[in-house]
Amino acid sequence: MSEKLLKVEHLHQYFPAGGFGKNKKYVQAVDDVSFFINKGETLGLVGESGCGKTTTGRSLLRLYEPTKGRIIYDEKVLFDSGDVPMMNDDGSTVMENGKPKYGKKTAVDMKPYRREMQIVFQDPYASLDPRMTVGDIVGEAIDIHHLAASKEERYNKIQSLLQCVGLNSEHANRYPHEFSGGQRQRVGIARALAVDPKFIVCDEPISALDVSIQAQVVNMFEDLQAEMGLTYLFIAHDLSVVKHISNRIGVMYLGKLVELADSYELIFHSLHPYTKSLISAIPIADPKVARSSKRIVLEGDVPSPLNPPSGCRFRTRCPYATEQCAQEVPQWREVSKGHYAACHNLEKVN
Ligand code: SF4
Repeated sequence: MSEKLLKVEHLHQYFPAGGFGKNKKYVQAVDDVSFFINKGETLGLVGESGCGKTTTGRSLLRLYEPTKGRIIYDEKVLFDSGDVPMMNDDGSTVMENGKPKYGKKTAVDMKPYRREMQIVFQDPYASLDPRMTVGDIVGEAIDIHHLAASKEERYNKIQSLLQCVGLNSEHANRYPHEFSGGQRQRVGIARALAVDPKFIVCDEPISALDVSIQAQVVNMFEDLQAEMGLTYLFIAHDLSVVKHISNRIGVMYLGKLVELADSYELIFHSLHPYTKSLISAIPIADPKVARSSKRIVLEGDVPSPLNPPSGCRFRTRCPYATEQCAQEVPQWREVSKGHYAACHNLEKVN
């Protein structure tokens, strides 16, 4: 059985959005999301813009302090709000003496974990300090974590990191504005690698890049993973990219995880109506196959996370919605081995 590096249980991330007392409003950016990531694997996270993918990635690194939930990294509880039940791998609740079992309220100091848990940001233009040379940008993390005993060691480390991401030693003296988007993203990756991480949240790392550069950067992520045994949470809105790099894929809609499975299983045997519509939108290169495949076009817009629909959040756009969908939140459950989904009407949909 694969070893789990990260476990996220009942993660909630609500942001205050005005109002007072009982009328206080919250943007429910992430609502009761649970998943795990095995050591050395890539878990892809997809969904439309604003569905909570980036917030999930940032919350599990505690760049945003979660509102509620539990985050376990390498068997160490990094955060536990103390008010969510513990979870088995199949999504069921851990029971003790016939009652749900809860953890203890915990929020550990993240500094020792910052070395192991890194992030590559979406925007390579905004995520690098324009006043620092590339050498200093990469070297900053080495300095903060005291990873080089001498100036020479620091210099050598920076050089080998730049080489590792396909840049050369002369680039260390240049400033970010002197680079193309793809090269800047490589600098961002070198900065993340500077502290020898085990786990990297890749937050839409290729969305801002030209299509011709995207493949290069994705291949580089794969090569680095094979070389260094890295584990990724790979966030993107483009399912065709995510299916290329991921071992498993999770699909989010309006702050909820709606389906998660092995990549092949999810693409060819998807269960949830929202996943099916996303898959039908993947461009097909073969015109004959493309002509015979049916595109599922969803009606209406994504509702506001400030006031999400009751019951299933997808019900306002779902062609299979029933009365039950408006009344009850569908339960997140393991439908078949390793294939999770949250829908009341899976039999009707499939
Ligand atoms: Fe559609 Fe209902 Fe399933 Fe939600 S629970 S996806 S509304 S059928």
